[in-house]
Amino acid sequence: MRFARWRVRRHPAGSRFGAIRRAVSCGAVALALTGAVAALAPAAQAASASGPTAPAAAPARIEGFARYVGQNNCDPVAKPGTTALAEMVLAYYGTGRDGGISRDCSIGERSEHKEGRAWDWMVNVADPVERATAEEFLAWLTAKGPDGKAAYNARRLGVMYLIWNQRIWLASRADRGWLPYDGSSPHTDHIHVSLSWSGAMKQTSWWTGVRANVNKRHP
Ligand SMILES: [Zn+2]
Repeated sequence: MRFARWRVRRHPAGSRFGAIRRAVSCGAVALALTGAVAALAPAAQAASASGPTAPAAAPARIEGFARYVGQNNCDPVAKPGTTALAEMVLAYYGTGRDGGISRDCSIGERSEHKEGRAWDWMVNVADPVERATAEEFLAWLTAKGPDGKAAYNARRLGVMYLIWNQRIWLASRADRGWLPYDGSSPHTDHIHVSLSWSGAMKQTSWWTGVRANVNKRHP
């Protein structure tokens, strides 16, 4: 996935959503988030979704929703949390292929791939097994946790946003669920996962057992 921009409608610049009106590093064409789209949620019932077990027990209070912190540096070496996530997902689900983490800074536009904190999992919507597996993973990531809040596993891993099958889920907009995505790549042949810096650096509670600050910038 390459560069794209997304916009949040219905919120004036001074609102709390105004600050996230900025470039997101995915796809090549501007995209827009539009209104209520709960029906677009691509995943199966979250309660039935299975996923890997965390190597560290969750603290009583886990991470909040990571805000969008876009790529600002040329530092494409794969970061340890991104690599660990990729290995864990491929091993657990046993489906699809590794689409890679790093991207040369001369290719395309802004992307967390250029900071080693985005991963592409190659799974195709046209393949029933791959699609079901992909959507199980996404349901598992975004399911409500024992703290009563959405996206428990995504928060523990430091997920910043996800793109799959013409939809985008942003941690910073988790209250709105899956939203339409119209970047140049429809992401019908892979899931894109972008991590916060703490997620990419393997510092979140999934790995450490300690709540991390998911909003910090490049270390
Ligand atoms: Zn990508």
